[in-house]
Amino acid sequence: MDSEMVMNAMNEIRKILKDEQILLDVPMKEHTSMRVGGKAKMMLLPSGVEEIRDVIKYLNENNVPYYVIGNGTNLIVHDTGYDGVIIKLSDNFSSTSVEEDIITAKSGAPLVLVSNLACDHSLSGLEFAAGIPGTVGGAVTMNAGAYDGEMKDVVLEVTCLDKDANLVHLCAEELQFGYRTSRIQTESLIVLEVKMRLSGGNRDEIRDKMRELNRRRREKQPLNFPSAGSIFKRPEGYYAGKLIEEAGLRGFQIGGARVSDKHCGFIINTGTATAADVIELIEFIKKRVFETSGVMLQQEVKILGG
Ligand SMILES: Cc1cc2nc3c(=O)[nH]c(=O)nc-3n(C[C@H](O)[C@H](O)[C@H](O)COP(=O)(O)OP(=O)(O)OC[C@H]3O[C@@H](n4cnc5c(N)ncnc54)[C@H](O)[C@@H]3O)c2cc1C
Repeated sequence: MDSEMVMNAMNEIRKILKDEQILLDVPMKEHTSMRVGGKAKMMLLPSGVEEIRDVIKYLNENNVPYYVIGNGTNLIVHDTGYDGVIIKLSDNFSSTSVEEDIITAKSGAPLVLVSNLACDHSLSGLEFAAGIPGTVGGAVTMNAGAYDGEMKDVVLEVTCLDKDANLVHLCAEELQFGYRTSRIQTESLIVLEVKMRLSGGNRDEIRDKMRELNRRRREKQPLNFPSAGSIFKRPEGYYAGKLIEEAGLRGFQIGGARVSDKHCGFIINTGTATAADVIELIEFIKKRVFETSGVMLQQEVKILGG
């Protein structure tokens, strides 16, 4: 986006959003849990469906590149930043409601809060999500999961925008959920709202299970360092972390990016990492693990820009 394109976009988007919802030259390290990455030319924080639709229509009609993010907990942005518009659907678009055994959440609602809301209403099914730091929209897109649970087990229906900014309602069967993937990813849909069906349970038991899963997380994962969670998908029949450990890479470091000593499936930012360090380490791990085990690891994290 050259400066004229940015100015034109600013002027038009000001007709849709308030000034405080339009940010320029935004450091993406402040919007991603890995805490690396350069600036995005523009970031928009729409707070309603009509705003999101109007923004997408404008961007489509004017061929402005854009990318939707939630909490940026599965995302690495290159050091050169993103030459386009980031649409962030997080706290700005996060209302929730509960009706009997159904929770409806806007895509920006934090999954952890929705999991707690379910517990407060004695609803079981989202215990697995108690420690996943993304938004509901990001979680549906990724079919996030842990400890034998995944989003596909609870999603009833998703309201999305398609590429032409049409509203579409997709039921679980239409979402083509797979291991850390969904039709949202493959067709670049935008998640607006998610309905989840849970089942009645005992509040204390639900809370105990969530506490236990979070305890296991704290014990196994390097939660005191910035990271993007598991960098790689679990290869069938293996564990990525174990393959990385067996390749001799526990604690291996490039620049400020390090294979976690606590969980080799995580890359942590020791404080000084650049996106280039993280990406170089990812490629190094893939190569070394392939040489030692014959398994080609696939990234779970998304890499943007470059
Ligand atoms: C410490 C830690 C632990 C983690 N543990 C787990 C775990 O146990 N299980 C697990 O599955 N993941 C885990 N993750 C990864 C991450 O939290 C999940 O993948 C989460 O679902 C991503 O949500 P997000 O809002 O942060 O998405 P982002 O990182 O912002 O985006 C991820 C992808 O989703 C897309 N996206 C986001 N929002 C939308 C939307 N509204 N519409 C369309 N596309 C969208 C983005 O374009 C991008 O492609 C962990 C991460 C960390 C840092």
